[in-house]
Amino acid sequence: MQEIAPGIYVKFDYEGANVGCIVTDGGTIVIDTPLIPADGKNWASRVAKISDKVLYVFNTDHHRAHILGNQFFNAPVIAHEVAWKEIANYKDTFIERTKNIFKKSPEVAAQFDQTRLKKPEITFTGRLILKKGGREIHFVHLGGHTPATSGVWLPNERILFTGDVVVVGEHPSLGQSQSKEWLDLLTRLRKMSLAHIVPGHGPLCNVEATGPVSDYIRTMRSKVRSQYRSGRSKSEAAVVINQMIDYFPYRPGDKSFVEKRIRAGISRVYDEMKVIYGQD
Ligand SMILES: [Zn+2]
Repeated sequence: MQEIAPGIYVKFDYEGANVGCIVTDGGTIVIDTPLIPADGKNWASRVAKISDKVLYVFNTDHHRAHILGNQFFNAPVIAHEVAWKEIANYKDTFIERTKNIFKKSPEVAAQFDQTRLKKPEITFTGRLILKKGGREIHFVHLGGHTPATSGVWLPNERILFTGDVVVVGEHPSLGQSQSKEWLDLLTRLRKMSLAHIVPGHGPLCNVEATGPVSDYIRTMRSKVRSQYRSGRSKSEAAVVINQMIDYFPYRPGDKSFVEKRIRAGISRVYDEMKVIYGQD
């Protein structure tokens, strides 16, 4: 766990996503909770060591790598209204599907037998500002990666937790994205003067880290656009997977996971192109 500024901690190496916490004189705010239950418990015990009271847990989006450890915290969960809707609609099969991701590691898969979803109880749409224990903390809608995606902005420290809007060294996930909005958002972030960005995945960074994400989204849009405009079907457009897969490195065992992520992105961007260029 790294203290990136006084009382602001980030754990960068759990499987799935970065998690953080902000300590105030009145209690602590936890930002995202790990995917794997053992990591979730570990995260809760680390937070307990630095603070005796967790006020809120905040989820940057509704994806499993940000929410599955919520149950290990005895505090209400805050999320964007759209994230709440997505989580509220998860079926019982959601945990089963999570288990399935780890079918090659039965000891990890088995941990999900005790997992229950702890849903957000407090939601917002634009910006929710918390003034507590000498800190000012803004929960702010970002969009782009998903319509729900939200960040945490600390105006005094000039630190922004971006959720999956910024990821470092891995394929951004476009499966539920609004890719044009995402590009515009990254352009706006580049104009901000920030001390740090805490990305959804990857090491601590700053606005320069938005560059490769923008390039990736632009490349994806242009490749899918040319498929669409040449009259190729969505399944034919899957040739783009091979054109994109080496854009960022991945662990050999993760190839099919990465391909799936790219395929979902192609499908999503293809649908966006339909809206822009029409059906024929
Ligand atoms: Zn996400």
